Amino acid sequence: MNVIFHKRFYEVYAHDPAATPGRMEAIVSTLEGEFEFVEPEQASDRDIERVHGREHVRSVKGDSLLYEIASIAAGGAILAGEMAFQGLPAFGLIRPPGHHASPHSCWGFCYFNNVAIAIKKLLSAGKIKSALILDFDLHFGDGTSNTFAGSHEVTYVHPGGGSREAYLKDLQGSLHADKRYDIIAVSAGFDRHEDDWGGMLKTDNYLSIGKWVKEFSIKNCQGRRFGVLEGGYNHSVLGRNVKSFLQGFND
Ligand SMILES: [Zn+2]
Repeated sequence: MNVIFHKRFYEVYAHDPAATPGRMEAIVSTLEGEFEFVEPEQASDRDIERVHGREHVRSVKGDSLLYEIASIAAGGAILAGEMAFQGLPAFGLIRPPGHHASPHSCWGFCYFNNVAIAIKKLLSAGKIKSALILDFDLHFGDGTSNTFAGSHEVTYVHPGGGSREAYLKDLQGSLHADKRYDIIAVSAGFDRHEDDWGGMLKTDNYLSIGKWVKEFSIKNCQGRRFGVLEGGYNHSVLGRNVKSFLQGFND
C-alpha cells in the first residue's frame, strides 16, 4: 500500500495544532519501512476550484507558504484517490487537514478540502459516479458536508456516540448498508483516541475500523478505498494510531 507524503509537510506553515513541528515526523518514523512512500504534486487551481470559490483560493494564496503546502496536500489527496480508483489502496499522509474547509470559507486548521477535491476530480473525469466519505475524526467535517450538501452522488457520514462501544457500533452500522459506491474515502482523524482530545478510542480500535472499511470496499466498492489524514494532536500516540489503521486498511 502506498503512503502519499511530501517532505514539505514537515514545514510549519501556521500556528495551530495541525501545523506543529514534530507532528509529521512522529507518523513518518512509525510508517517508514512498512509502507511505500510516494511524493505528490501540487494540485492545480482548476482542481481546487472544483470545490472552492475563486475568492477563497485567492485569500489562501495571500500567504504563499501556506498556499504551497495546502495545494501539495490537496495534490496528495488527488493522488491517493487516483490510486484507489486503479485498485491500489492509498493513504494521504498530508497536512494541513481539510474537512473544515467549505467552498467559500474555512476554519479549524483547514484551508482546502483535500478529500472533497479528490472526489470531485474523479467525478468530473467520469471515473466514478458515486462515493461514500467516512469521517472518523472527533469533529464533524462541516466543510465536506457543505461541499456535498444535496448531492446525489456523494454521501458523507460522521458517526457519533457517547461511549467507545456506542461509537464503534454507529461507525460499523454506517458501513453495513448494502448500497454500492464506486469508491470509499476516509477522513482519518485520530483526535478521538483515549490519549488525544476525544479521550475515547484505543489504538486497536483503529485497526478494526481499517478492516471494516477494507471489507466494505471489497463488498461494495470494487475494493477502491483511500484515506487522508485529518486531525490527531498527541505526537506520542499519533504514529501508532495511524499505523494501526493502515494495518487494517491494507490488503
Ligand atoms: Zn478533529
